[in-house]
Amino acid sequence: MTTPSRYSTKPIELSLESWLLEGTPAPDCDQCAARAVKREQAVKAGDWKAACAAARGIRNHRHGHRETV
Ligand SMILES: [Zn+2]
Repeated sequence: MTTPSRYSTKPIELSLESWLLEGTPAPDCDQCAARAVKREQAVKAGDWKAACAAARGIRNHRHGHRETV
């Protein structure tokens, strides 16, 4: 009797947690807006890595100060 490996019959596509793609862009922030567009395009293209990176950038973007970076 062979040892059953993993019950991985399904392709690993939607293993990503949804929060990884979350992030609300600030209305007045050009950088957030640009990242939001990039995230949307990346999701459509199936590029989860880029989509997560863009979403993370939105979440991590510090607002409250008008700083030119
Ligand atoms: Zn921002």
